[in-house]
Order: sequence, then C-alpha cells, then structure tokens
Amino acid sequence: MTTTAAAHPGAPLRLAVVGAGPAGLALALLAARELPRWQVWLYDARTLADDVSADPRTLALALGSVQLLRRLGAWPAAAAQPIAEVHVSQAPPGLPPALAGRLGGDGAVRIRAIDEAVPMLGAVLAYGALVAPLQAAWFDAVRAAPQRLASCYGHAVSAIRPLADGSVEVDAGVVERHDAVVVAEGGVFAQQARKALAHDYRQTAWVGTATLAGAGAAVAYERFTRAGPLALLPLPPAAADGGAAQRAALVWCVGNADDPVRELGDAQRVAVINSLLPAAAPRLLALSPLKSFALGLNAETTLVRQRMVRIGNAAQTLHPVAGQGLNLGLRDAYALVQALRGVASPAAIDRALARVEWARAPDRWGTIVTTDFLARSFTWTWPGVAAARGLALAALQAAGPLKSLLARQMMYGRR
Ligand SMILES: Cc1cc2nc3c(=O)[nH]c(=O)nc-3n(C[C@H](O)[C@H](O)[C@H](O)COP(=O)(O)OP(=O)(O)OC[C@H]3O[C@@H](n4cnc5c(N)ncnc54)[C@H](O)[C@@H]3O)c2cc1C
Repeated sequence: MTTTAAAHPGAPLRLAVVGAGPAGLALALLAARELPRWQVWLYDARTLADDVSADPRTLALALGSVQLLRRLGAWPAAAAQPIAEVHVSQAPPGLPPALAGRLGGDGAVRIRAIDEAVPMLGAVLAYGALVAPLQAAWFDAVRAAPQRLASCYGHAVSAIRPLADGSVEVDAGVVERHDAVVVAEGGVFAQQARKALAHDYRQTAWVGTATLAGAGAAVAYERFTRAGPLALLPLPPAAADGGAAQRAALVWCVGNADDPVRELGDAQRVAVINSLLPAAAPRLLALSPLKSFALGLNAETTLVRQRMVRIGNAAQTLHPVAGQGLNLGLRDAYALVQALRGVASPAAIDRALARVEWARAPDRWGTIVTTDFLARSFTWTWPGVAAARGLALAALQAAGPLKSLLARQMMYGRR
C-alpha cells in the first residue's frame, strides 16, 4: 500500500486521474506542470494500441480552449481549422413573411472574429487529432519526471473508495491510495450510467464529413431546422486529395420520432441538407456515411464529493447544440489545477476543492441550463415558437454589445 500525505505528513501529495480522454489528459498535463508537490497517476481503460482516430466526433473548440492547449504544447495547428465567423440562422418557416421581408430573412446572427478583435473564434478538429498530441505531450512529461508522473494505460478503474482519513483508494487491479482523485472517465450518453440529473432528449446526432463546392473556408454554420439544429463546421483540407476539396463536419440533430435522416441514401441526404442550409452557406457535393449518437443530458449535481472531483463528460454530458461539452471540461480542468496550486496539506485540499465547486458553478450551471433549454426548444410545437426564435436571432444581430457578450462567453465561458 502506498503512503499518502494523510498517513505521512512529509510525503508528496498523490493525485489520480481516471480517464485519459481530452479532459483527463489536459488535467494531468496541467497538474504535471503546475503542481510540483504532487505525484500524478493517469489511468485509462484503453491500451496505447487502441486507435482513438476512429472516434467520429468532430469538436469545435472555443478560443479559450485553443489557448490552453497551446500553452500545454498540445495544439495540433496543422490538423485544425480556425473559425473566423459563426453564422446562426433559422430555416423557414420562422417569422411571418412581412416581418421576414423587413428584416431581410428569418433572422440570422453573424459573429465574426474580426469584430471581437481576436484572430479566431475557435477551431475545429477531429477527436483523435486532439487526443494524439495531448497524449504525446503527457508521455514527454512522464519521461522528463518519471519519479513524479506515472501512466497506467490498459488499467480500467473498477472502484474508487473514500477512506476515513480523507484519502481515496483507487482499484485498477492493484489498489493504490491517493490524496485526491479526478474522475474523467467520460463516455457518451448511450453508454453512461444515469447520474442525478438525467434527461433523454429522444434525439439523435448524425455526424459525418461533407465535401463542399465553393466554401467560405472559415465559417461555421448553425441552422435551426424544424427537425433540430444542423451544424456545418469547417475542416482543414484533407492531405489524401492534396487539399483540393473543401470539407466540413456535419452535426445534424433530429428527433427520433420523426427522423428525416435514417432512411435516406447519401444523395438524398445531400439534397435535403442543401435545401435546409441558408443561401450564404456553401453547397454540399457529397457526404460520407453518417454515424449516430443518442443525445441526452446526464449531469451530477456537484463536481466535488469528498476528495473526488468529476470533470468533462464524467461531470456532465450535454447536447452538442452549443458545442460546449469539452470546452466546459477544459475550463473545469484549468480551474481545478489553479485551485490546487500552493496546497501543501490534506486539509488545504478540502478547502481548495470547496472553492472549485463554488467558483465553477456559474459557468457550469449556465452552460447546462442554456444547452438544455436550446435542446428542448426543438421539441416544442406551440405556434409562435419559430417566430420567437427568429425574432430573438434578429434582435441579437441588431444589439452589438449583447452579441459581443455572447461571443465572449462562447470563447471563454462565463467568468
Ligand atoms: C456528436 C457530438 C458532437 C460534439 N461536439 C462538441 C463540440 O463541438 N465541442 C465540444 O466542446 N464538445 C463537443 N462534444 C462533447 C465532447 O465530445 C465531450 O465533452 C468530450 O469528448 C468529453 O471528453 P472526456 O475526456 O470527458 O471524455 P472521453 O472523451 O469519453 O474520455 C474518457 C476516457 O476515460 C477512459 N475510461 C472510461 N472508463 C474508465 C475506467 N473505468 N477506468 C479508466 N479509464 C476509463 C476512456 O477509455 C476514455 O479514454 C460533442 C459530443 C457529441 C456526441
């Protein structure tokens, strides 16, 4: 059995990170850099031979997340497409025709990096393209400080048990004691055990890659359709075709009861999507086979329980309508490590974790509530809902300071 600072006051503090997805890896790397008093163990059920590039998710990361990953030396600039503009609009019928005519459409918001004086609003990249450099940076750190950092890939954690002295036991085949544990075991809604706050939206996200004609390469489109939100996120050119084709990631969320995607062939899907996109968006030429994700909210009411802290999808799994799941997880990881800086005793860990819970609540609950509201609003069939949404978009576009506030929250979260 290992010695924790609780059992032996002179011993270094021990932190276990359970899950080496993007949230757990970012947390472990931050802890390795900024918490020199701590030893860090990183556990993951998968082995290093498992191929994360097979994960079909494409992630839109906010500018704050990009900046964090750059600081960690884990930003794969060549594999990511910066976003210069976000265009949010609603497919007709939305506003009454007379009002739509006066407003020049059904209501649209354009958020541009140039207006916010930033080089990009964020960037888009594949899940695997993000995990690979994080993992490489972690292994560099382990090689540089093997006495302080340890990787336990291929070790699924089967139990985490709080002990009477405040320390925590982690069972991954071998039982180890730690002064604190970060649970970053993630997962997607369909795989997860239900947490305290769970709601099945009975919606599916269809994801894939589209080839485009004449794209404005750096624009992300979000279109609210009757069936649900449809996003077209710009991707970097593919090396395979010499970068000739413009590509975008498609995330199309639809209700399960009336799913307009499942039964269609690729060509029909292309035609339907083209009919739904705004005139300003590029046309789709082709679409890869689509993969599906069941969508739901699955969240814990608290991040911290004794010396266990949940981050990323282990704390809250969200609908992808606002593209905030991992962005929120990275902000949690950053806040947690900042709170643990300077902590030198087990009692100080408890105080630091209590501060994290308080400090993260506005951003966390703001993101959960907003995302949940948006996700549910697509199931409302009351007359006037689409018109209200169109008016809200038009009003937001007209209100410069409010739009700028929204842009800042999108980039950096609620602070
Ligand atoms: C369709 C879709 C689109 C999305 N788009 C966006 C977006 O644009 N922007 C955004 O910010 N977010 C987006 N998300 C959300 C985002 O994908 C997740 O929030 C993010 O991947 C969660 O990362 P994580 O590290 O918490 O978990 P994961 O990526 O699930 O990683 C968890 C890790 O823990 C390991 N693990 C699991 N159980 C154990 C165990 N018992 N012991 C040890 N290891 C274990 C796993 O092997 C895995 O490596 C999207 C989600 C979906 C479904």
